[in-house]
Amino acid sequence: MIVAIDGPAASGKGTLARRLAERLGLPHLDTGLLYRATARMLMDHGQNLADVRAAVAAARGLSLTDFNAKILRGRDMGEAASIVAAIPEVRQALIDLQRDFATRPGGAVLDGRDIGTVICPQAQVKIFVTATPETRASRRALELKGQGETVDYLAILEEIRRRDARDASRATAPLRAAADSVELDTTDLDIEAAFNRALAIVQAQMQSAPHSLSN
Ligand code: C5P
Repeated sequence: MIVAIDGPAASGKGTLARRLAERLGLPHLDTGLLYRATARMLMDHGQNLADVRAAVAAARGLSLTDFNAKILRGRDMGEAASIVAAIPEVRQALIDLQRDFATRPGGAVLDGRDIGTVICPQAQVKIFVTATPETRASRRALELKGQGETVDYLAILEEIRRRDARDASRATAPLRAAADSVELDTTDLDIEAAFNRALAIVQAQMQSAPHSLSN
C-alpha cells in the first residue's frame, strides 16, 4: 500500500506521515529532505541555487542514508529547497529514488508536494493536508520557540506565503491536490485529532478497495 501525503509548508503533513507510517508499520520518506539536501550541498560548495548543472549533480549524488535531518529542517533551508525544487531537471533527477522507495514490497508512506500527482499517481491513499497560513505560521513559531529561537511571527507568515506561492506557481509538478485525494483541513484540529482523521481516511480506503492494497 502506498500512502501519499501532500500539502503546503508547515501544514503538519510530515508529522502525520511519520505517525501513519509507525501505525501501519511502513517505511516513511519525507521527500522535502531531498530538495533540502540538494540545496544544502550547493550552499556548502559555494554554488548558486539556480545553477542547473550543479543542482542536478547534487541531486544525483544524494544518498538517503547521509541526511542530517536536524540541519536540513532548519528554517533557512525551506526557502533554499523551494528554489532548487522549481528546477525541472532537479525534480527529474529525484524521481527514481522516490519511486524506488514507494514501490518496495509492502508499500510506504511518502510526504511532499507532488506525491499523489506525479511521483505515485497510483497510490491507494492520497491525503492533501491543509491549514490556513496564519495557523501554519503560529505552529511554526511555537515549534521554533520551543527550540529556544527568538521568533518573529509576521516574518514566518511572510516566508510561508512566499514559499506556498513559489511551490504552487512553478511549471513542473506544482503544489496541488490530486483529483482523487481526500482533503484534510487541520486548521481547527490538534495533532491527535488530525492523526485520527488521517487514520480514518486510510481505513476507509482500505475497506473500499481492499484488493488494491496488498501491493
Ligand atoms: O516539505 P518541506 O518543507 O521540507 O519541503 C521543502 C521544499 O521542497 C518545499 O517548499 C518544496 O519547494 C520542495 N518540495 C517539493 N516537492 C516535494 C517535497 C518538497 O517541491 N515532494
